[in-house]
Amino acid sequence: MSKFIIEVQGIVQGVGFRPFVYNLALKLNLNGYVNNDDKGVNILLQGKKNSIDTFLNELKNNPPILSKIDNISILEDTSLDDFEDFKIIQSANQNNKSTLVSPDIAICDDCIKDIENIENRRYKYAFTNCTNCGPRYSIINTVPYDRINTSMNDFVMCEECKEEYEDPTNRRYHAQPICCPNCGPQIKLYDNFKNEISNNDSIKEIAQKINSGFIVAIKGIGGFHIICDATNENAVKKLREKKNRPSKPFAVMFKNIDEIKKYTNISNKEEKTILCKEKPIVIVNKNSNCKISELIAPNIDRLGVFLPYTPLHILLFEYLNNPIIATSANLKDEPIIKDVKDIFSKLSNVVDYVLDFNRDIINACDDSIVQVINDEIQILRLARGYAPFSYKTSNKFNKNNLAIGANQKSSISLGFNNNMISSAYIGDMNSIVSMEYFKRSVSTFEKFYDFKTQLIVCDKHPAYETTKWAMNQGKEIKQIQHHYAHALATMAEYDLDEDVLAFVFDGTGYGDDGNIWGGEVFISNRSSYKRINHLKYFKLLGGEKAVKEPRRIALSLLFDNFTIEEVLTLDNACVNSFTKNEIELLYKMWQKNLNTPLTSSFGRVFDAIASFSNILQLQTYEGETGLQIEKEYDENLNESYSYEIINTQIDLSKAILEILKDKDKKVICSKFINMIVNIISEISLENKNLKIVLAGGVFQNKTLLEQLSKKLKRKFYFSKTIPLNDQGISFGQLYFQN
Ligand SMILES: [Zn+2]
Ligand SMILES: [Zn+2]
Repeated sequence: MSKFIIEVQGIVQGVGFRPFVYNLALKLNLNGYVNNDDKGVNILLQGKKNSIDTFLNELKNNPPILSKIDNISILEDTSLDDFEDFKIIQSANQNNKSTLVSPDIAICDDCIKDIENIENRRYKYAFTNCTNCGPRYSIINTVPYDRINTSMNDFVMCEECKEEYEDPTNRRYHAQPICCPNCGPQIKLYDNFKNEISNNDSIKEIAQKINSGFIVAIKGIGGFHIICDATNENAVKKLREKKNRPSKPFAVMFKNIDEIKKYTNISNKEEKTILCKEKPIVIVNKNSNCKISELIAPNIDRLGVFLPYTPLHILLFEYLNNPIIATSANLKDEPIIKDVKDIFSKLSNVVDYVLDFNRDIINACDDSIVQVINDEIQILRLARGYAPFSYKTSNKFNKNNLAIGANQKSSISLGFNNNMISSAYIGDMNSIVSMEYFKRSVSTFEKFYDFKTQLIVCDKHPAYETTKWAMNQGKEIKQIQHHYAHALATMAEYDLDEDVLAFVFDGTGYGDDGNIWGGEVFISNRSSYKRINHLKYFKLLGGEKAVKEPRRIALSLLFDNFTIEEVLTLDNACVNSFTKNEIELLYKMWQKNLNTPLTSSFGRVFDAIASFSNILQLQTYEGETGLQIEKEYDENLNESYSYEIINTQIDLSKAILEILKDKDKKVICSKFINMIVNIISEISLENKNLKIVLAGGVFQNKTLLEQLSKKLKRKFYFSKTIPLNDQGISFGQLYFQN
């Protein structure tokens, strides 16, 4: 007779771990018990040695699908008392809250069967869930994860639900959000004047409104979506006008994977990713006969697609004729709306009808966005299904670190003991409401992990709202340069603790010299970095205004290389988009350095290329030029533009002269991408013994990454789990080590 004490740590609570252990122990004739405590799950096993070995194998190789085991410790202890049977013992009082919070998970196949089966008591019930699926993070007030600490506390379980909840052999054993039509949340349908529309099938009713071309708001897991028929040109046009969102792509939700295939070309890996338990938005290629409205993702060949991930969505699609736009409900620069009152106060002029329910969303959470690169998932927005993200480090934090990221695509990360925990995507900090959301996220995470901040890590930019907030907290502060934090984020994901060669190409970030950086090559490690190369500085004509007007970037590069007289005679799309007066005025600005900050940003060079090649002269959302340049890339064109590396500066003057001679968009875009590959190759060759790290928003460019994979002929590291755009900054800030 052997006796073992087993401790399991990681995401092991609220994911069906104890019933899994219980049922496995019964099957293998083992006695003992399982319980939860502040550190995780404890198992005491008594029985035949080979049964215990089988048990441990199953535990390691086939744990519950939603669990994530970080550590298993096994200790033999023959001094233990004998047990007659196997029991689940209720949670002991929990003081130290280091148990990890589980993300929200899409409805599982078993629950889909339940809501589609007319015999089942949850037939057509929109809040059906079980231990393997449903809301978690979005409904948790505090830990431990028990119903009393969630927004399901408002609902008293009926007898039948209670029986299921208490039966360790039931799929809903200890499923905290368990409910049914008799005891759980209910739906309400309103018009945009808050008038309740009484109807016994509100889901059918709102589906018919969508089919008729109305724009509606529907509450989801982490917030409301704005929804309309994706094939209805007028509805999409109306939505764009009302949201004042001229061209930023919308994501489209489809009934099932076969529907997605009618509109897109997807690889096997993309199909698997669309179907995975997180159900993220996956960015894929449209096909040629895609009958989705062209207004959904104008001028790009990609489309963000996803599948229904709540029972409510599944039921909705029973009545819908077509795929739907499902975009986060919010005002520009504000976070996703989670309460119906905010839909009425902020979006009643956008939506015609509202579908709400009375299970509160405690923590808002957007949909995640991913793409597939070389058959691997790269997360571009880490949120529903993935957040909170937890990661074990090899060395311990000696202080509780709170890292607060940058100003755009913000997130926060906590570092304590051996844990790094990252929040969901918070968004852009350009409004008071966003800052409120940011502060709420900080206190939520402090509460979740019983965390008292000792050190705040923030960006160096003095004007960032997050930096200003940090300065007012009266805590010790560490400021990390923006692009160094990007490099650190990738180093953290791969646990790189050595000198690396980091290429950090992105939009904008505050540099050590006060200029705007963004085309940086560092040799860096966890405690320092050296800027070995950077893009030669150029002037942003009109500062922020230049970011919205790619033609201003292009013009500035022309001023660097030509006299004003020469510029005025050039026959190029950039020059032609201005009047003579405008060019002369901008030239004066350029000459006298009036509101013309210096930048080394590679993101801005993409803007210039889009202008020179007549792709666009004005952009309405971040990344628009990159996406359109990708669309023009032709793999069969191997030529590249010229550049020089003079001292530490990457000088594109030669490229500018060559670009002006090319007229074809495809040629310009292809030679430009090839040039970036060549720049990275050349600098890498000079640093053969260093690992290559790629970071920053520019490397979200799928074409660029794929070309690098083909041509660089060396392994390179770019982050796949931690977004390599600014959402990853907080994670990188944590990885810094004094
Ligand atoms: Zn389920
Ligand atoms: Zn019930």
